[in-house]
Amino acid sequence: MSILNILESKKNNHELSKEEIEYFIVGFTNGEITDYQASALLMAICINGMTDQEIFYFTNAMINSGKTIVLPNFNAPTIDKHSTGGVGDKTSLIILPILAAFGFFVPKMSGRGLGHTGGTLDKLESFDGFSFKINQEDFINQVKEIGLSIIGQTENLVPADKLLYALRDVTSTVDSIPLIASSIMAKKIASGADKILLDVKCGDGAFMKTEKDAVILSEKMVKIGTFFNKETIAHITNMEAPLGRTIGNALEVKEAIDCLNGKFVDKNLKELVFELLSGILISNNIATKDNVEDSIEKMVNSGLPITKFKEMIISQGSSQESFENIKISKNIKEIKSNETGFVNAIKAGEIGESAMNLGAGRKLTTDEIDLTVGIELVKVVGDYVQNGEIIAKIYYNDSSKIEFSEKLLLKAYTIEEKKIEEKKMIINLVK
Ligand code: URA
Repeated sequence: MSILNILESKKNNHELSKEEIEYFIVGFTNGEITDYQASALLMAICINGMTDQEIFYFTNAMINSGKTIVLPNFNAPTIDKHSTGGVGDKTSLIILPILAAFGFFVPKMSGRGLGHTGGTLDKLESFDGFSFKINQEDFINQVKEIGLSIIGQTENLVPADKLLYALRDVTSTVDSIPLIASSIMAKKIASGADKILLDVKCGDGAFMKTEKDAVILSEKMVKIGTFFNKETIAHITNMEAPLGRTIGNALEVKEAIDCLNGKFVDKNLKELVFELLSGILISNNIATKDNVEDSIEKMVNSGLPITKFKEMIISQGSSQESFENIKISKNIKEIKSNETGFVNAIKAGEIGESAMNLGAGRKLTTDEIDLTVGIELVKVVGDYVQNGEIIAKIYYNDSSKIEFSEKLLLKAYTIEEKKIEEKKMIINLVK
């Protein structure tokens, strides 16, 4: 077998065999296949795609490139959740403690964020002392005791993906559906949970800009999950406007805590949280279609989810005091509308850029982020606003950043005389 034959084959749109795919992943991971050869294959895959069979082999070879997590028998289902990423997306922080309260075991590995705002790990670092670097034994014990632990992805989990992703990033080959599907699912499967809940974002602030692409990606991921015997549900959800009222790490954590305390200020965030939970609660016979909303409402109001969340934060190095006193910048600039009318759109991409400019996200993996800054949306899609009314607040630490962030923020809002119909939050379900 040779890499040249493999490249020739994919260039001519032929299906690669299991052996050829394994040869590529093994050879690339151990350095025998060079970056320029791997780049050529990635580009050929981007252009010609992969069959489902190739995607399964590709995912399997990536999983086998490192160590997998073997979870003990918890005598209850284990679940993992993944969002393809969006602006203001704090749903994991809300959903995972609720799932733990319903009796699921949630051993979650998360990443840091690149772009817009931080990832789940960055957000959790808003709690002083919180550590996601706990060893595997402590991780498993915490899941047994509390039902929930969120840690960083271990170095040796799917190393092929780490190397390939870095190459995709600099060769314009990130936006390939087969490559995205196998990259996400390899990490989920290697992490060991039996159930996988996917939130595939669609719209301005997301990887998938159209519903058609979001459906194709979801179908591929569900097929991969099913092939590996994991119950996989993918919800396709709207990411035209930012999710919830806050964008920025500590601000988002604060909003998530409010939700866990039963205070869902934002109706879209509530709808999304309830929808993601409903699918999994119904398919596991914990609730029925008729009583699922009530069950979630009751569970949140019981206080158990917030208790689970707090226990996790304290168990991973933080304290009750830090939990109650998340640091958010005290420097606030109120942004006023210069128009009167209905907020018909808020572009997630521009709000993300605006928050990033304040320091809430990183451009390079090595960038430091400022956890205390961000944006609060006072007016959201569907609201009526008067000229001069406050539409948003900027939380900043560096005043030289305000002007640009304010400009982006105002540009993100579409305010018009006539109200247009709001876009659906929940677009589709694939299982
Ligand atoms: N997230 C991943 O983990 N992989 C991709 O390819 C894209 C998004």
